[in-house]
Amino acid sequence: MTRTNDHRSQTDPWGPQNRIPDGISCVGLLLLLVIVLSTLGVGLGTAAAGRRSDVAEVTASSSPTIEPTPTENPLIGVRKTQQAATGTPTATPQKPDTSTPTPSPSETPTETPTHVPTSTSTSTPSPTPVDTPTMTNTPIPTSTPTPTPLPTPSGSYSSTLKVPILMYHYVSIPPEDADEYRLDLSVSPETFRQHMTYLYDHGYSTIDLYDLSRAITNKEELPPNPVVITLDDGYRDNYENAFPVLEEYGMTATFFIITDFIDQGHPEYMTWAMIEEMAQRGMRFEPHSKTHPDLRGQERDYVIYQVLGSRETIEAHLEHRPRYFAYPSGRYDEQVLDIMAELDYWGAVTTAGGTWHGFNDRYEWSRVRIRNVTHLEEFIDLIE
Ligand SMILES: [Zn+2]
Repeated sequence: MTRTNDHRSQTDPWGPQNRIPDGISCVGLLLLLVIVLSTLGVGLGTAAAGRRSDVAEVTASSSPTIEPTPTENPLIGVRKTQQAATGTPTATPQKPDTSTPTPSPSETPTETPTHVPTSTSTSTPSPTPVDTPTMTNTPIPTSTPTPTPLPTPSGSYSSTLKVPILMYHYVSIPPEDADEYRLDLSVSPETFRQHMTYLYDHGYSTIDLYDLSRAITNKEELPPNPVVITLDDGYRDNYENAFPVLEEYGMTATFFIITDFIDQGHPEYMTWAMIEEMAQRGMRFEPHSKTHPDLRGQERDYVIYQVLGSRETIEAHLEHRPRYFAYPSGRYDEQVLDIMAELDYWGAVTTAGGTWHGFNDRYEWSRVRIRNVTHLEEFIDLIE
């Protein structure tokens, strides 16, 4: 038996030695395992607890059910915090997102635009002010632009046109004691209406002398059957008897007025109030001198006084510079013609008969005299 032991010992000299260390190592290993496991267990426990507290805090508001998977919880929690935060902050994240993108794109555009516009706007204003000054200047030249071509066809174009310029004076029944001149110059309101009715019914179009000048020098088109109606001297019956008929037919006329007679308030002549009213309603007023003198053989200054003074008076009342003149009693000489050009008149009418008008004879345009005895048949012959 001992031999067995011995044998054992012999056969296993290292038996007990091996066993002891074996035993020690096993126990030590077990102990180590226990220690390690215990320490690990504690560590895991604390870690898990920490995570759970975090999750609890995070998911407290949202859903505490998702405790089991702690690893996911923080993520969910984070997501939910983001989502929960989204509620109010959704805008905030989006805002910064949109704001950050928007600013960057909008900044670049806005900046470039704003700068470009500002530059363009600054450049635009600079022209606009330039325009405004020119605008302030324009009113004065206003007459110039329209007319610029008028006085000077500059050889480019000029034509002679057939346009009857009718010449009336009184539109009333003369008093019984009227002299032959007064009689001759008078057309009854009834006759005047007959004439206007005829023009209207036969497709005539009333134009003014500005239209005629532009047609002659600029080749501007005139309406069909153009006719210019003029009334000399500015008698009050023009306002009382002619103006209503003209308005009734939608026609316009040119009134050559003697400015001093109007200034003096002579009852036989129109008042400035009447003239201003008619001008506002489309009627033209041009000078017929200040006092209706014979302009032939006069001092140069006197002619200028009559021709320019009457124009300035009308201009002061109507804020429009007249450009046409009617020679008193149709009398004029070379000096008068020169002064018309010097004062930049665009045309003048005489009492000579005729219906053709051009640029070269613009200071001697003829007219069709309408007399007291000019009844409809003769009237038709005169204008056609
Ligand atoms: Zn006259």
